[in-house]
This record gives sequence, structure tokens and C-alpha cells, in this order.
Amino acid sequence: MKRSYWVRSLLCTVLVLVSVFSLIGCTAKPEEVSSPGEPDESSELVATEKMTADVVVIGAGGAGSSAAVTAAEAGAEVILLDKNAQPGGTTAMGGGLFGADSALMKERGEKPVDTDALFQDWMKEMVWKADANLVRKYLDLSHTTVDWLLDRGFDLEKVDPVQQTHTTYHGYHKYNNNSPSETVGYFKKMLAGFEEQGGQVLYETPAKGLIMDSEGAVLGVLAEKKDGTTIEISAKSVIIATGGFVADEAWVAETLDGVFVASAGLLSNTGDGIKMAWDAGAAKRGEDVHLLHVTKVPGDLSSFEDTAWLANTSLAYLPITPWVNASGVRFANEDLIYDRALTTNAVVAQGNFIYTILSQAMVDTLEEKGAAAVGMNENVAMGPIAEVAPMNSPWTNLNAMLEELINQDVVFKGDSFEELAENAGMDPGKLASTMAKYNADAKAGKDAIFGKRKEHMVALEEGPYYAVKVIPTNLCTLGGIRVNEDLQVVKNDPNNYEPIPNLYAAGADAGGLYSSHYVLLEGGAQGWAYNSGRLAGASAVANALGKEIDLFEK
Ligand SMILES: Cc1cc2nc3c(=O)[nH]c(=O)nc-3n(C[C@H](O)[C@H](O)[C@H](O)COP(=O)(O)OP(=O)(O)OC[C@H]3O[C@@H](n4cnc5c(N)ncnc54)[C@H](O)[C@@H]3O)c2cc1C
Repeated sequence: MKRSYWVRSLLCTVLVLVSVFSLIGCTAKPEEVSSPGEPDESSELVATEKMTADVVVIGAGGAGSSAAVTAAEAGAEVILLDKNAQPGGTTAMGGGLFGADSALMKERGEKPVDTDALFQDWMKEMVWKADANLVRKYLDLSHTTVDWLLDRGFDLEKVDPVQQTHTTYHGYHKYNNNSPSETVGYFKKMLAGFEEQGGQVLYETPAKGLIMDSEGAVLGVLAEKKDGTTIEISAKSVIIATGGFVADEAWVAETLDGVFVASAGLLSNTGDGIKMAWDAGAAKRGEDVHLLHVTKVPGDLSSFEDTAWLANTSLAYLPITPWVNASGVRFANEDLIYDRALTTNAVVAQGNFIYTILSQAMVDTLEEKGAAAVGMNENVAMGPIAEVAPMNSPWTNLNAMLEELINQDVVFKGDSFEELAENAGMDPGKLASTMAKYNADAKAGKDAIFGKRKEHMVALEEGPYYAVKVIPTNLCTLGGIRVNEDLQVVKNDPNNYEPIPNLYAAGADAGGLYSSHYVLLEGGAQGWAYNSGRLAGASAVANALGKEIDLFEK
């Protein structure tokens, strides 16, 4: 365990113990609990507020909000906490969710997704290392969840897959807007209904630790208000839904054998809930699964204003230029770019970055005429981002931007492939033989190694050549806490994964859906957030009120 985690854990443990003393009638004065946060010997003692609820939910993203609403609608008194000043979390940053059926699909005359077949394919894709009962429950409930959201203020549209085009199952429902702030608005609408039912949402109030009794049962949550005071919330059930740990890039790298993947996710998702559960004795599951989903060219091109995105983004989305790893070896069919998940997985498998190789003639043609003139014959559809790799418009400033990126060690140039390799730190012999093979295949009209379509096999004739660095990014981590089929967090005992009493997890914090990689299903992660939230909400109510809710009732 890293030292910073240890310090935080220790602090939480102290706070939790102080609270437990107060709960079990010991003499510590609850008003004098010190403020959670980083250790500070001199910090003032501040008053502690006390609250009670049937269910406390930590995190108001897709999973937490769905859990809170489900529990409140079943009659529970619910408190929903979020670190941020608004709901939605990562979920509001996303494009949309998987749903097996919906009123929107019916309107389009589409049949429900065959979730029996999808279940079999999912488990095969995960070589049966996923939790089959969790996957089954998710897919079964996903027949109803899009309509459930529509009924609570969400606006969605049914579209064909746009980012994960290799998926066979078309259940992608996109938010009907082009701006995350509008999706935040859908969350606010849903939570307005929650508040009308007596639910309370406390923004800018991060959970800092779980309150436990001496038997290891969870009795509530300690949270910190914006003014630094603490709230001790006693609850019969606690649901952790803090969205994973994507913002802790060092932790992510530890789980990827040291490969660094930049975060493109929410800054507030630092794994708080996962650490709390582990501190409470929870088993781990799926800590190494990530939503590796976008590639980009690093470097600061802000002085180029509007055209910067052509170099920072579009260059990474070209299937016509060969991709090589840091040694100079080609490793993929570049047509993978039509599926972001496959592309990013292939890039991460090579290490911290790859290079895409261009000739001067290609750069000049892109700058003058655009991608179609170089040979690209199908645009990369990016959902809300209409034209990431423009086909017929000039890539203005491309030469100048590449020169600027050479100054930043992002782009390298050489008159021959050997010189290019030396400048970029690749193996000159390997790059030269990679390119000799690629050019020969291009001239023969057949990618004999990886099978890329022949139109995209464009030979790189004359130098100079460019090697442009492309890096992977991570949208969200997808596991950490082991849960059972009822979303109960379980103890770290492989002989018997018994539940930790009163503790649940949902969304990106809960592991078990995958083996070591994300599934080939567009909207799969968001679908899981909402569906697992509903499932956890129902389980938490059953525990708190002894009331069973049948979410699957037709
Ligand atoms: C740019 C982007 C695009 C994406 N697009 C898609 C897509 O189109 N389809 C898809 O399936 N997936 C997509 N994903 C992934 C998907 O959005 C996430 O996997 C999913 O939304 C996670 O939901 P969640 O509820 O678990 O977490 P979140 O929605 O992140 O919610 C977690 C909440 O917990 C809060 N929190 C954290 N710590 C604490 C604490 N200590 N106390 C209180 N609150 C806390 C956070 O502030 C946050 O609001 C995308 C991700 C990103 C970043």
C-alpha cells in the first residue's frame, strides 16, 4: 500500500473509532471530533453534526443517483452525498448508455437486443472470469432502465453504435444533447423528484470514512462539509458509488504493469469509496480493468487556436498512416481506429505511446486537400464530435504545427527511416524493415500481416518522414471492490466471500463484470452504472426496511 493511502486510512480509522465510541456509548465527546482531511496537529476542533437515514449513498453519478432514487421511491429515508457541487459525475461527461429495449427502440421498429445471446458472448469474451450472475442481472434489468430514466426526466435518443463499431448488439441510447451540462440538467430533474420524496442531497460533502462497529458491520458514514465541519450519518445501509480512481494516474499505472495512461475522466474520482471498502476489510476485484477508450497526440498547440485539434486529435485518427511501437515495429491493422476501445487497447499493449508515421508528401496533401486526397475512404464517426478526421477539408497549419511539436519532442523527423528512428529513439533496423514490408504490401495491394483494407495501404515513398507520438487515455476505472450478485460488498476471504453487513457498492467502484478488459458493447459502462445503482438501491432497501422490491417485474 502506498504511504499516502496508509496515512489517509489511518486518519479515517481514528475518526471511525472516535465515532464508534460515541455510537456504542463510550465517553469520547462527539462534538470534539477533529476535522477529517490531511493530518494537521494544530487543526481546531470543530463541531460534529449528526444525521440519520435508512440509506446513505456516497456519490451522485449514474450509479449513486439511480441507487438513491430507487431507495427513496421504495419508501426509504435517503441521504445522497457528493464531493462536487453538482450531480452527474463522470456519467454526465459521457455519450450514452446501453439498454436492451426501450420505448425509443419500439418507435424505430427495432426488436429488443437478444440478451441471452449477448450474455453468452459476454461471458465468452471474458473467458468466464466475470461474475455470471452480475452480468445476467445487468443485462436483464437493462430491458427497463432506459424507460426508467426517460420517466424521471432524462432525454435520450436511440442511435446506431458510433464509437465501438465492432459490437454486434445495438442498444446504444445517446443523451439527446451535445453538452455535458445538459446531461447534468437531466440528473437535477431526476433528483428534484427524489427530494420531493424526502431524499436529501448534500453537495460538496465528501464522505471521509465508514463508521463500523467492533464486529465489522457498517453503521454509517463520516462526511466533511465545505466549512470543514464533519457530519456523522448513521444509516442501516451504505452504498458506495464514487466512480473509481481514474484521477489517480499513478495508481492506474500500478495496475497496468507500469504503463502510464493519462486520465480523461473526472478529477474527483480518486478511489475514495474503494479505499473505504478495502479499509473495512472488503475483497478486491477488477482493479486492473479500465475504460481505455481514446488516443491523442500530446503537446501544447494553443498558439494555433482553432486548428490545434487537427494535430492533437485528427492525426491520431488516421487509418492510412502506419502505426509502430517505440521499437519501430508495426503492431496493428490501423483500421482499428473505427473502434476506439480496440484502438486504445492495442496502443496500451505497446507501452506508454506509439508513433504514427507520415511522409512529407502525405503531410502536404493533408494540409492542402484533406484526408480523402491521401487515400482515406471512410470517415471516423465520433458520435457528438462530427468531424474529427475531416475528409475533404484542408488541415490548415499542419506543417507549422508539426514543426512546433518537434520542439516539444512529440514529433520527430528524418530524411530516411533509419534517421527518423534514430531521432525518435526507435531501432533503425526494425523501423526500416517494418516500412520496407509495409511499402511492399501497399504496392501489392494487400496487408499480408494484419489485413487492413487495401485502399488504406498507402506507400510512404519519398522522405523526409515524420514520427508523431500518440498516447492512450483512460475514461474511467472499472472495478476495485468485490461484490456479490446482490451488490453487497464482501469480506476478503476467498474461502467464503461473506457480505460485510450493511455495505453495498455500485458503478465503477464495483468489480466483477469483466476479466481484465472492458466489454465490446457500446454504452456498457454507463448501462452498468444505472443498472447496478438500481440493483444496489433495491438491496439496500431490503436490508434497511425488510422490504423486497422486484425491479424485474414487467
Ligand atoms: C469523457 C467520458 C465519456 C464517456 N462516455 C461513455 C459512453 O458514452 N458510454 C459509456 O458506457 N461509458 C462512457 N464513459 C464511462 C462512464 O461514463 C463511467 O464508467 C460511468 O459513468 C461511471 O459511473 P459511476 O456512477 O460509477 O461514477 P460517476 O458518474 O463518476 O459518479 C461518481 C460520483 O462520486 C463522487 N465522489 C467521488 N468521491 C466521493 C466522495 N469521497 N464522497 C462523495 N462523492 C464522491 C464524484 O464526484 C462523482 O459525482 C465515459 C467516461 C468519460 C470520462
